[in-house]
Amino acid sequence: MRALSILGSTGSVGASTLDVVRRNPDAFRVEALTARRRVTELAEQCAEFRPTLAVVADPNSAGQLREELRKRGLSTAAASGVDGLARAATLPEADTVVAAIVGSAGLLPTLAAAEAAKRVLLANKESAVMAGGLLMEAVGRNGATLIPIDSEHNAIFQCLPSAGVVADAGVDRILLTASGGPFLDMAPEELADVTPEQACAHPNWDMGRKISVDSATMMNKGLEIIEACRLFGVEPERVQVVVHPQSIIHSLVQYRDGSVLAQLGNPDMRTPIAHALAWPERIESGAEPLDLFDVGRLDFREPDLERFPCLGLAMEAAIAGGGQPIWLNAANEIAVQAFLDGRIPFSAIAALIASVLAECRASSPGTLEEIIGADREARQKAREKLADFAI
Ligand code: NDP
Repeated sequence: MRALSILGSTGSVGASTLDVVRRNPDAFRVEALTARRRVTELAEQCAEFRPTLAVVADPNSAGQLREELRKRGLSTAAASGVDGLARAATLPEADTVVAAIVGSAGLLPTLAAAEAAKRVLLANKESAVMAGGLLMEAVGRNGATLIPIDSEHNAIFQCLPSAGVVADAGVDRILLTASGGPFLDMAPEELADVTPEQACAHPNWDMGRKISVDSATMMNKGLEIIEACRLFGVEPERVQVVVHPQSIIHSLVQYRDGSVLAQLGNPDMRTPIAHALAWPERIESGAEPLDLFDVGRLDFREPDLERFPCLGLAMEAAIAGGGQPIWLNAANEIAVQAFLDGRIPFSAIAALIASVLAECRASSPGTLEEIIGADREARQKAREKLADFAI
């Protein structure tokens, strides 16, 4: 039986993970759950799964969490803040850590889990974008295991030879599929005025609000190019984005001999989550089986970089390397939150990021301190520039 610590359990990936666990009670037990501040949801999860530890990232919610656990008669210990997240990521009772916090807040606990030699199931792509080198180095040095949950990277992992690394495997390139999001066919002049609700209404996937906006701008695919380079040791030039609106093929690996391996399935995050949880075995996920007659056809297009400038910015940052991916990620987080808060229009997301990246110094942050410093500097720049793009 595997023992899990689920970081970000109240989110979309967290809830899907718990659903897979619910279906496989003999295979998994839950040792730790964490949220930012949705305390009632967290306490309800604790009542069902009875973990040893529950953590709220927001220190001001710690008292409420203790009270909610007490009201339910639970013996689950409560912790909070960055230290609490680190405790959940390194809990001796857990062998597997699901890294499903959204954004850069996931970096420190994900790294801590790798340092603690856990089996790390990675959804938090932002930590791979910011510090993929450090993360993979920590995985290797400590004998940890990293299995991607992001559906595309999980598909690539499934299509690669068992080591999950491109080097020396005869791989020519990686084909990263993209749904194109809710605005794939919207007239460019209409794009400027789309609302957060429209941006979050993804045609194929039900996800948290930040990644939904990232899908609408296609920054998500840009972040995923960088994530693929970090996780599989491949150069950005060997990752090609293929728009595939049906989201049935989750990505492909093209080999030197002309073979192309793909992983297919209905768009349901429980499939990659179940794969990662059980790897190298297979378990029930709850996802509907794929019916190819129902699907009927599979379409492919080239991405339109004029319509989706965020994708172009990310491709440039992936090739430039150094501090650029960190700045890209930080500026994107600020821009997406400002858009969700109604402070800037949709079209300003790319414009703000481009303007911040133009000021990125060509340094190569290597240590964790340098990475956190670069992230902080880029956020500061992005916040300063918000007024220039305000509605
Ligand atoms: P959600 O917004 O649905 O959930 C985020 C989770 O992280 C919640 O538990 C939230 O707590 C917690 N959280 C938010 N901010 C912080 C913080 N500052 N410190 C600690 N915890 C925090 O996100 P998703 O589940 O959609 O995405 C999670 C990650 O997985 C992202 O990196 C995303 O890119 C990636 N991913 C998601 C997919 C999906 O289908 N959703 C697919 C592939 C990758 P609270 O509920 O209290 O706010």
